[in-house]
Amino acid sequence: MTAAVPFAPARLFDTDREALRRLVHEVGTDPAQRFVLGPRTAELERALIERTGAADVVACGSGTGALLLALHALGIDAGDEVIVPAFAFPSVASTVLELGATPVFADVDPRLMVLDPVDTQARITTRTRAVMPAHLFSGMADMRPFRQLGRKHGIAVVEDAAVAQGATFAGVPAGRWGDLGVYSFFPAKPFGGIGEGGVVLTDDPERGRRVRLLRDHGQDGSRVSELLGHSSRFDEVVAAFQLHRLPTLTARLARRAAIADRYAERFAPLAGRGVLAPPVGRDGRCLYVYPVLAERRDALRDHLAARGVGTRIYNPVPLPRLPAFAECVPAGDGWPVSERLGRQNLALPLWPGMTDEDVDRVTDAVCEFAEQE
Ligand SMILES: *Cc1c(COP(=O)(O)O)cnc(C)c1O
Repeated sequence: MTAAVPFAPARLFDTDREALRRLVHEVGTDPAQRFVLGPRTAELERALIERTGAADVVACGSGTGALLLALHALGIDAGDEVIVPAFAFPSVASTVLELGATPVFADVDPRLMVLDPVDTQARITTRTRAVMPAHLFSGMADMRPFRQLGRKHGIAVVEDAAVAQGATFAGVPAGRWGDLGVYSFFPAKPFGGIGEGGVVLTDDPERGRRVRLLRDHGQDGSRVSELLGHSSRFDEVVAAFQLHRLPTLTARLARRAAIADRYAERFAPLAGRGVLAPPVGRDGRCLYVYPVLAERRDALRDHLAARGVGTRIYNPVPLPRLPAFAECVPAGDGWPVSERLGRQNLALPLWPGMTDEDVDRVTDAVCEFAEQE
């Protein structure tokens, strides 16, 4: 049975079907027969340069690919350490390992769930080459302390803004705070598309040039590999679809924000009753999903499921506790906040097509649970 209010929309690109059919036909029958890294990719890059003000934007195979290229462009190598959040998407650590370097896991902020600058500073060593804060779920990391740490210790800042495209903090767009920033176009993301894709943003033209080389085997159309690169190119159909959807991104983000406001208003009184909503406001918010923290999380999940509301638990265990990363974790280390967030977080539905009635159904069910506490 499908939920009355599913966690994610059942028909993600319903309103874009005709456009998608037309765009696939256009790309497929274009006499140039360019299917990757063609004119549509270049146009998308230019459109994102214009929107974000970055000096360069380079489209590549995925958000994970973008993180890998960003780290590689910085020269991250065997023996280097990169500080990453313990509560995050696996890419923040897997990309570091892929380059032969070591991810060093730091704990996160209990309210925003993003990398904690104090624990980050405590983990800086002479081998630290970069730090990789990730914006998550409902809030951007405050990037100012990370930039300060970067300047003070001579380490680079890679900003994982995979889910934060369109968010701003103190007037600066997500993705522009780091030495390099990354967005993802994976379908579920706020600017998700119809396949894999991502971009690297940077204000340093030389780094942009390196990322451009690295995404296509170290070559730039020349068939001469200047560098040992990767296969992380961008698909023209995805580019065409993202260009088609870009003008309406702001409206979709505004709808997400309005839903979050409605949630916040109803949930404010629940803080003392075992259900804590994310911080309110607009500055520095990135509304990917809407996670509440509940002491009796699993009971809340069951309560909502029984009332037709779909939910999701993110990062039930911290990254360094996953078998995939066990090898690079020092014995005895701990991430108490990440552990607790893994036990308590429950993400509520947050997608632009939700009606006000859908939102009320969710809030009624959550409030009913809290009142029973
Ligand atoms: C999705 C995501 C990524 C990776 O993006 P893909 O396009 O799926 O490879 C990286 N970081 C965060 C925080 C994400 O949510």
